[in-house]
Amino acid sequence: MRAISLHPDVLVATSEVWQTTCTAVRSGGEAFVIDSPVYPDELELLPTLMQQAQFIPKGLLVTHGDWDHVLARMPFPDASVGVAETTAARLRAEPGDAQRELRKFDEQGYVERPRPLQLGSMQALPVPGKLELGGGELELIPADGHTQDGMAIWSPAHRVLCCGDYLSPVEIPMLNENGSRDAYLATLERLRPYVEQAAYVVPGHGSPVDGARALAILREDAAYLQALPDPAATLPLARRTGAQRKVHQDNVSRMGGTA
Ligand SMILES: [Zn+2]
Repeated sequence: MRAISLHPDVLVATSEVWQTTCTAVRSGGEAFVIDSPVYPDELELLPTLMQQAQFIPKGLLVTHGDWDHVLARMPFPDASVGVAETTAARLRAEPGDAQRELRKFDEQGYVERPRPLQLGSMQALPVPGKLELGGGELELIPADGHTQDGMAIWSPAHRVLCCGDYLSPVEIPMLNENGSRDAYLATLERLRPYVEQAAYVVPGHGSPVDGARALAILREDAAYLQALPDPAATLPLARRTGAQRKVHQDNVSRMGGTA
């Protein structure tokens, strides 16, 4: 796991798998931890990392309900977890799904964990909305399309946008089972004004990027999505790997095209 600081009050830890990001944002002596790394040793390290940097977690936030983003409950079992109302509804509708997906991943990679994942109760946050943090506030922005649920989190004090699985430098737009191309495009447009003011954008997967780079990714992603479900849609140049071509094929077949 890599940990970098984007700002004295913003830490980003990046998992060894899928470059999944976990961001801590501090204001007025308290902090929120957004999303999670994946491997057990990475999760175990989080409380120490926070302590060393003197980040005192007020609670956890989750950008969307995909299993690889909801794991911070394991190292912080007593923390409150805030999710968008759409994510709370999704997790209620598919109980045990995150746990099943996690078990599948662990089985495949022979990963052992000290205890199973227990999500416990979550706080459903109204999105769009605001969240108080140490006298300042965070802005919650609806972010669906990759999945049917989710939110992006904007910290105006730090000009940092944690956007969940959008604007990734390593992953093309991915339409999951209940994802939607049109919703995804609408989310990109909703994020645009924040990206334009951002010092950094922290994607769910991949290194944090500056605002200008994130805007370039936004343009590439919108062009790619607009070309779907054409199997010949051009993939963004820096993301034309075998794995991303497979994601593209899945996107095409989800939209009823033939890959
Ligand atoms: Zn993800």
